[in-house]
Amino acid sequence: MKPSSLRTYVYCPRLYFFESHVRRERGLLERLRLALGRLYHVLAGIVDMARGRVVEEPLEARLGDYVFVGRPDAWRVEEGRLVVTERKSGRGPRRGVWLSDAAQAAAYAFMLLRSRVRGANEATLEVGYAFGGVRRLRLTEDLVDIVLRAAGEMRMVREGVVPYAYRVEAKCSICPYRVPCEELDRSLAPPEDGEIYEPGSWLASREPALDSR
Ligand code: SF4
Repeated sequence: MKPSSLRTYVYCPRLYFFESHVRRERGLLERLRLALGRLYHVLAGIVDMARGRVVEEPLEARLGDYVFVGRPDAWRVEEGRLVVTERKSGRGPRRGVWLSDAAQAAAYAFMLLRSRVRGANEATLEVGYAFGGVRRLRLTEDLVDIVLRAAGEMRMVREGVVPYAYRVEAKCSICPYRVPCEELDRSLAPPEDGEIYEPGSWLASREPALDSR
């Protein structure tokens, strides 16, 4: 389980479903955007290294029933407190941090507290937006619950359960799966009793952002 995949699930569970089950070629614009994002990370990583932070270190840690693997952009310990930095080449919300970015940073912090950083019980999550500056959050139990709940549902989705489509025009207008996603919704028969639990539907009440602290 990768924290970056967890971020995709929290951003839109249905998008994670497509990325898990559909192979597709990336278009030129998408590849260009990814290359620019990578360049942004490399430049920011050089600055972080110069400041004495640990940059893109490979990690593996067990959280509950799940093994997480990934590379946080940067981390450090300040006065006994772990500080995890996650860089985003996009725009931040007006206040706080997008929940998907907070969940990814929380997974890295949790991994570091389990595997690398002894003696630190608390963590600060620092999300640096290319357009929006640096926002900070505490790692809370609520965020850890979000990570573990999402991880459990991601397993079901990889096995084929179709999850919630988090329809927001700003997301769907740039989504490469928009057409199949809408077709899938049309083909899904509503249940007879009118009630069904869609994995990931709880996320709709959690957006748009967490407050900075
Ligand atoms: S079209 Fe919208 S709801 Fe469907 S997968 Fe893409 S982002 Fe999610």
